Amino acid sequence: MSRRPIIAGNWKMHNNREESKKLVCGIKEAIKDIDKDALPEVVVAPVFTSLGVVADEIATCGCGKIKLSAQNCYYEAKGAFTGEISIDMIKDFDAKFIIIGHSERRQIFSETDEMINKKAKAIIEAGLTPIICCGETLEQRELGVTDSHIASQIVKALDGVAPTDVANVVIAYEPIWAIGTGKTCDSAEANRVIKGIRATLAQIAGKENADKVRILYGGSVKPETIKEQMAQSDIDGALVGGASLKADSFVEIIKGAM
Ligand code: PEP
Repeated sequence: MSRRPIIAGNWKMHNNREESKKLVCGIKEAIKDIDKDALPEVVVAPVFTSLGVVADEIATCGCGKIKLSAQNCYYEAKGAFTGEISIDMIKDFDAKFIIIGHSERRQIFSETDEMINKKAKAIIEAGLTPIICCGETLEQRELGVTDSHIASQIVKALDGVAPTDVANVVIAYEPIWAIGTGKTCDSAEANRVIKGIRATLAQIAGKENADKVRILYGGSVKPETIKEQMAQSDIDGALVGGASLKADSFVEIIKGAM
């Protein structure tokens, strides 16, 4: 089963409009001579306030090589939800993806599996693709509950999603102890966990649909690590934080995934 790789940059709470424009222009410039079909699907996720400027840059390049993602959303369509952004508001910028369930949102903003499930269903309903993050803490890894914890996160996130829709979601396996720490999860171990995620997806949606799901690894991905990660049977790309904030290193990761 061949799955098109994805390299997604999560810019987190970095970059004002000018900095965002500079970064996306740098990426655009560096990949302009590469054939689109040779590239992985390249995704950037700026802060909400930079969606417009990044969307404009992506649109003027007209090559469809870079796709836009948001880092979060709210699942209700509109109403008295001060400070929240709806999926339609994100869609208005022609974004194709929305990251949900990032460990920073789960831990710092107390997002629950139930909220993540509501977001996943609303994103799919709107015709966008959720990038659903999952991952264990160091404590859970040391207790030996990594696999059961992740299976539970996946089952809860996809509760009530039709099997054919499951095929189109993107999952990011991000061990929390590897995010922003410089400690990358051993590639073979990341692949083992990701195979487990695919087995869980097969139980939920059948093997044929599970085999279509792109599952990314995230956690201190760097230009030096991407080749080995992409060489694994079940790793279909990367969700990149720190190394996506500089065009040079992000583009090296993109090239490493080709
Ligand atoms: C992330 O934020 O999803 C992430 C993986 O960050 P970093 O690459 O910096 O570890």
